[in-house]
Amino acid sequence: AAKKAGKNCWRFYQPSLLEEAYKNMMLTNGLRRGLERGEFSLYYQPQFTVDGDRIVGFEALLRWNSSEYGFVSPASFIPLAEQSGLILPIGQWVFEEACRFARRLGDMGKENVGVAVNISPRQLNSEDFVTHLRRSIEVTGIKPQQIKIEITESVLIESMEDNVFKLCQLRDIGVLLALDDFGTGYSSLTYLRSLPVGILKIDKSFIDKIVEDEIQRQVVGSIIDLGHTLGLTIVAEGVETKEQLKILKKLGCNHIQGYVFSKPLAEEAAAVLVVNSILSENN
Ligand code: C2E
Ligand code: MG
Ligand code: MG
Ligand code: MG
Repeated sequence: AAKKAGKNCWRFYQPSLLEEAYKNMMLTNGLRRGLERGEFSLYYQPQFTVDGDRIVGFEALLRWNSSEYGFVSPASFIPLAEQSGLILPIGQWVFEEACRFARRLGDMGKENVGVAVNISPRQLNSEDFVTHLRRSIEVTGIKPQQIKIEITESVLIESMEDNVFKLCQLRDIGVLLALDDFGTGYSSLTYLRSLPVGILKIDKSFIDKIVEDEIQRQVVGSIIDLGHTLGLTIVAEGVETKEQLKILKKLGCNHIQGYVFSKPLAEEAAAVLVVNSILSENN
């Protein structure tokens, strides 16, 4: 498009490209300092059974409260962390922190409440990925079954065989694997069978329309059925309304994550939620 626009046009966007590059560089430096200064934290979004009566796990979501920029959304800093390679030390910190929280849940007698961690392509591509994860699990003394790894289809575009091999290694020690944002990528239903995945997360963009859009509702229904045929647990992401919830229940969806039940919570609030659910179980 740039070339087609002709010679007269480049002047108009060249400065904004530079601005963009400059902004990205500043943010990347901020990320590096942020890691040293401990500006990162994890929030935990609970995942419930479709009836909402039981917490089945939490998804760990990275938060950056930068001293220079304030709260920065992961949607803007994760890609920069990827490009710069900083996702490797940051991702390692995320994993260790998530394992620590899983240990805390285990100590509360809630070993069956899992913690899901998002893993980006660059992390999975790195040589010592499996070793690092295994070590963090051992050091914290948790069961591998307490940890879930969330990957998107994009991690499989590059070095598919290598990455599938690594994922199999993790599965073999007991870590659960979830395919995140399902429906946004290639979403080839057939290759799902060749992945060591046990959980399918249907992307929010699909859930958004299920109330108004009959076709979309049927598409989600088909994904759920097919997932079940393949023996997968289905999680709906970004469920915001009671109406969506009702439909998902009818379609046979297993687990729900979304504002309808809870936003992502700071660790203390997440722990309190689990304590309260223990209390209500005993009634
Ligand atoms: P994701 O893994 O698909 O996570 C779900 C996102 O949807 C989260 O956004 C969550 O806060 C948001 N969400 C959940 N329920 C609702 C809802 O009902 N309504 C709406 N509007 N949003 C909802 P968040 O925390 O901003 O994270 C965005 C993305 O950044 C994540 O998407 C994930 O791809 C990435 N990310 C977050 N933490 C990490 C991390 O530790 N490592 C890596 N590699 N990526 C991360
Ligand atoms: Mg995720
Ligand atoms: Mg997702
Ligand atoms: Mg997403």
